[in-house]
Formats: sequence, structure tokens, C-alpha cells
Amino acid sequence: MIEPIAEPIAEPIAARVRYPEFEARHPWLARLLDAYHISDTATRADLERETARRGVAVACGPGCSNCCIDQCIPVTEFEVLGIWWYVAEILEGAAQEELKQRLLGFGEVGECAFLVGGRCAVYPLRPFVCRQYHVFSRACAPGENVSETRHADVFRGAQDSGRELAWQIIPLYGVAEENVDWLFESGYVSRKGKHLHTLPLDNIVMHMKTTAHRKKARNA
Ligand code: SF4
Ligand code: SF4
Repeated sequence: MIEPIAEPIAEPIAARVRYPEFEARHPWLARLLDAYHISDTATRADLERETARRGVAVACGPGCSNCCIDQCIPVTEFEVLGIWWYVAEILEGAAQEELKQRLLGFGEVGECAFLVGGRCAVYPLRPFVCRQYHVFSRACAPGENVSETRHADVFRGAQDSGRELAWQIIPLYGVAEENVDWLFESGYVSRKGKHLHTLPLDNIVMHMKTTAHRKKARNA
């Protein structure tokens, strides 16, 4: 059977997001944003190649979020820090309030805590895994574990960029440059992983509140 004609990838590649004031204050943030941009660029190129090779389109697109339910999302502490920073310093108004309610336990069981109204509330700072994971041919059905139902449709981008990403992330742990390569090869980054759903979400809400008070006091 002839597969559907491959279409251009629906997800536009975002330019590297910039927050100059914060990046000057937090060098770890600049490195993390660089790393996300490297990952996004490589993922995009990989998807273009893979789409041409398979002759079928990537199913992922805006508003598609079944992959944000019942998943373990591994994250390093700097990915967590990025989310922590973003929700307190950048999110505001109704978007921030909705997320607070969500984090305090008002969401559906099993959904990622950062999935609000079917969309990722921390999209520019979403973890590497969320940026790289894609599914070809058709969107995941609710509750579908694509790794089991159609493993061949799963595609993870930027897998050849691990070393380049490690050079952005590992030095953030205070590691000397001469040790980055062998630590990367030894699985250092994976060993630093936690699971997103195990984070103390009420602490994030507390941080959002104290940051809001601090901003208000500064602007008074
Ligand atoms: S991985 Fe599945 S649910 Fe997630 S965006 Fe892609 S097709 Fe949609
Ligand atoms: S962080 Fe965002 S993209 Fe990743 S699982 Fe949660 S809602 Fe989905």
C-alpha cells in the first residue's frame, strides 16, 4: 500500500528563545537555552530526513498531548531549574494562575502536572525528552503506549547530539572540561536524572508566590 504523502513537518523550529536580563544573571540559564536550541535544531533536521526516508508525515502537532499522560519524563536538575525559573519569572496572569491550580492537584490523574488545558504550560522550557520524542504516521490515541502498539512509529530526534548537549550541561555541575567527555561516555547525565512527576510541586507554587511578592515590592 502506498503510504500517505509526507507533508512538511508541522512543528515550526523555534528560534533560540532569549531572556538577556535573566541570562546575564543566571549563566546556567543561557547554557540550558543554548542546549535546547541545539536539541531542537538537530531534532528538526533529523525529522526532515526521517520524513523523506519513510515517506510518511510526523503526526505531532499543536494541541496533540496524549503523550503528556501516564509518562515518566526524566529530567536533570537544570531542566527542573529552567521550569522553576520560567513559571515564576515569565509566566504571569491567568496562565500562571491556571498552572498554580493545576500544580496544587486540580488536574486529571496521570497527566503531566504542566499540561494545562491540553497544552504545555512550560513549552519554551520543556525538557529534552519532550522536545525530542515524536511519532510518525498517526497521532497517539488516548491511553495508547506507542512503544508497545507500533514501536516503529516512535522517533527520537537529536540522538547524535548527545555529546554536544553534554558539553552544555555537564560543566554546569562544576565538572572540569577535561572530564566532560569520559563522564558523558559513562552515562553521567542519565545518572543525574529524576522524574518530572516526582518533583515537589507545592514547592514550585510557593516559589511562584514569593517571586510574585518580590516583583510587586520591587515595582511599588
Ligand atoms: S507523541 Fe503522540 S500525542 Fe504526542 S504530539 Fe506526537 S502524535 Fe501527539
Ligand atoms: S513538560 Fe510539557 S511537553 Fe513535557 S510532558 Fe509535561 S506537558 Fe507534556
